[in-house]
Amino acid sequence: MKIDSLLTQTQKLLRRHNLRARKGLGQHFLVDEGVLETIIATAQLTTDDVVVEVGPGLGVLTRELAKHAERVVAIEIDDKLAAILRDSLKEIRNVTIINQDVLKIDPPALLKELKAESPDKYGMPYDNRHYKLVANLPYYITSPVLRHFLETTAKPELMVVMVQKEVAEEIAAKPGRMSLLSIGIQLYGAPEIVARVPAESFYPAPAVDSSVLKVTPYSHPPVEISDREGFFELARAGFSAARKQLANSLANGLGVSKEETLALLAKAEIDPQRRAETLSLEEWARLWRVYQGKG
Ligand code: SAM
Repeated sequence: MKIDSLLTQTQKLLRRHNLRARKGLGQHFLVDEGVLETIIATAQLTTDDVVVEVGPGLGVLTRELAKHAERVVAIEIDDKLAAILRDSLKEIRNVTIINQDVLKIDPPALLKELKAESPDKYGMPYDNRHYKLVANLPYYITSPVLRHFLETTAKPELMVVMVQKEVAEEIAAKPGRMSLLSIGIQLYGAPEIVARVPAESFYPAPAVDSSVLKVTPYSHPPVEISDREGFFELARAGFSAARKQLANSLANGLGVSKEETLALLAKAEIDPQRRAETLSLEEWARLWRVYQGKG
């Protein structure tokens, strides 16, 4: 861990602006240079890359991103931090700060705006080219942010995000430990845990450890689900009674008879005694097709 100088810098900056980290906004600033290097290396940035950063905070990651990418668009909800950033990063010409709740940003509209700002500079329109999402995420909205950028038509080509260690493990789980969260992410991309990050790498230190998680969105998803809402209703029913056999949890969750559920599982060739967390994505998709009458 290389934390001394960044820690002092962060504490000084907060004091100078008479600020305290707002825990309600998940403000735990990264103060470990080694972790910063890991994030930058994992993002494999080139000077062609457009990076969207969620929650730049005091800008420690933003500055590094700006050195390696063509352009950084950083979205910060906290008015005071956004103002400080605009001032402290004003010399860095390839950074734009947007003072907004990231969940209110529409990714396709954002990319179109970028293109409109500099139509001559870029040969290809931004909305046809990829961007990378890199963030030390505020933990209280980890999964909404991931879904926001995975379920849009303008998906990033790569996501490198700091998340709570347990959440990273849940997202990257294999059959046996699957959950609605792992299904929700793995439908769209391949997750990989890159590094474990101890709580002391942040100021103030959170109560939990973290992990750097890389998610590579699929250009063609491994399983096609046209009716996302319907599919998740089925999956939610499967997980509605944790650790129960699927035959029971599905019957309860869907409000259908046990006989019907057994027939459904038989047609999908899934053992009714299995539990929801043991099913692979392909098995969920098969069950979904049978449930829809297409199996
Ligand atoms: N990137 C900085 C770093 O690594 O030191 C700060 C990371 S801190 C974990 C999360 C940041 O996200 C904070 O600056 C917080 O204000 C910001 N944030 C929280 N909720 C947000 C939201 N809904 N939209 C945009 N930014 C948000």
